[in-house]
Amino acid sequence: MSSFSVTPLADKSVEDVKRAVNELCAFAESIGGDIARLGEARARAVMADELRIYLRDEGEIVRRFLRIKEHMGLKNDTEVVRFLINDYWDRNKDMLQPALEHFNLSEKGVCILDRTLADKNSRGRIVDVHFKPDMVWCEYCQSAACEHVKFALDLPEVQEIMRRKSLEKASREVEGPSRSA
Ligand SMILES: [Zn+2]
Repeated sequence: MSSFSVTPLADKSVEDVKRAVNELCAFAESIGGDIARLGEARARAVMADELRIYLRDEGEIVRRFLRIKEHMGLKNDTEVVRFLINDYWDRNKDMLQPALEHFNLSEKGVCILDRTLADKNSRGRIVDVHFKPDMVWCEYCQSAACEHVKFALDLPEVQEIMRRKSLEKASREVEGPSRSA
């Protein structure tokens, strides 16, 4: 295991600092692959609700960043990044929002807002998808295989509901009158 101290560098000679930096680089290279793999796994785990950004830049982009920060009267860099994200979102909302979004999920079904069905009067259309004992049915498409059904079946909550429904159906068939028929 290679190891080195970082804090006392200021007291050492330039040569010592250079050597320490070289050692650090070699060490970083040797563990780089492992860190990248760990990073990927972590990125997948937190993809939905956590983000860490490290930005290093120079020149015009930095001057622009600082000018925006000053202009907005913002105190820290993170606030500037948040502002830029929200500003971009507001101006491009229609393109950035997902085509399909679900709400009102229950044992009976789910409502899906389909933004691809937007017209002059609305920003989309609400489609009802019903959960039947042995299938998921889209009222709008009159289909069990449309995009809305596929979208619903991709939701873990819906998979859980359908799993429960099929178990209930199976147990009814075992206990019910159909057994003796
Ligand atoms: Zn449909």
